[in-house]
Amino acid sequence: MASFRCALALLYLLIGAPLRAGDVALTFDDLPTYGRFRTVAEAQRLTGGLLDGLRRNRLPAIGFDNEKQLEGPDKAARIALLTRWLDAGMQIGNHGYAHLSLDRTPLDRYVADTARGETITRPLLAAHGETERWFRYPYLESGNSLAVRRAFEAWLTAHGYRVAPVTMENADWEFADVYDDALGRGDQAAASRARDQYLEFTAAAVAWYRKASVALFGREIRFVFLLHASQLNADSMDAIAAILANNHLKPVRLETAMRDPVYRIRDDYGGPDGDEWLSRWSFTFHKDLPFESFPAVPAGIDATEKALTR
Ligand SMILES: [Zn+2]
Repeated sequence: MASFRCALALLYLLIGAPLRAGDVALTFDDLPTYGRFRTVAEAQRLTGGLLDGLRRNRLPAIGFDNEKQLEGPDKAARIALLTRWLDAGMQIGNHGYAHLSLDRTPLDRYVADTARGETITRPLLAAHGETERWFRYPYLESGNSLAVRRAFEAWLTAHGYRVAPVTMENADWEFADVYDDALGRGDQAAASRARDQYLEFTAAAVAWYRKASVALFGREIRFVFLLHASQLNADSMDAIAAILANNHLKPVRLETAMRDPVYRIRDDYGGPDGDEWLSRWSFTFHKDLPFESFPAVPAGIDATEKALTR
């Protein structure tokens, strides 16, 4: 009888107990809108779609903005897009004024561009009881040498910023370019094909990052997921939420994810590649990631995106 009870308890543990949920912070780069120039009406539709999808799925998120995008005759309407993010309870961080690369910009100019990137955002945040605390490197490029990176990050620290790292990504910008192009040509079939491929790739990428984290740290860390403020993501939020749920990943605010002690590890990467942080730690620890199983972006998406941006 005892062994029967034991077996029952084991069965419960195997099938009845909820799986422990991991954490993931969603971050959206290039606010208010990623990609090609958009009219105010297009930008409003994109922002509305993204925020509705986040709210519907109860997903907290932070967006990283480039204030250069706000310039022009529609400035007030474009600033209002950022206000919508804050009104929806989302956060905003600094992604530089003009989306420069630290690899290709002198440090003093890069610092000035970062400071300029908070001109409008800082008072907007203050009006919502928030302060600007997070910086995300454009292209994830953190300078050609460790000395430049350390010097810039010392400036960030002195100005109350922390770097928002990336420990999960899905090449969403590549798919987004192809999707935007298809929509622009009115080719719904091509757009929906690109979206299907995007979601298939996202499911594979999320699973890979979980595996890579275990390979590096023996456990699943709290992930920070890089996405972009694209029409593709605006049209995919329900499906992305489902992928996260299938992976037992619970969306949390960036601060919560950053409480994982892994983010206290200083990495020694000082090279030009805009790598995410698992790769940077892999470099620091001389420990390989399972890149042999990294999913490939479909060749058609890759080729179309390259042709579009050539
Ligand atoms: Zn960016």
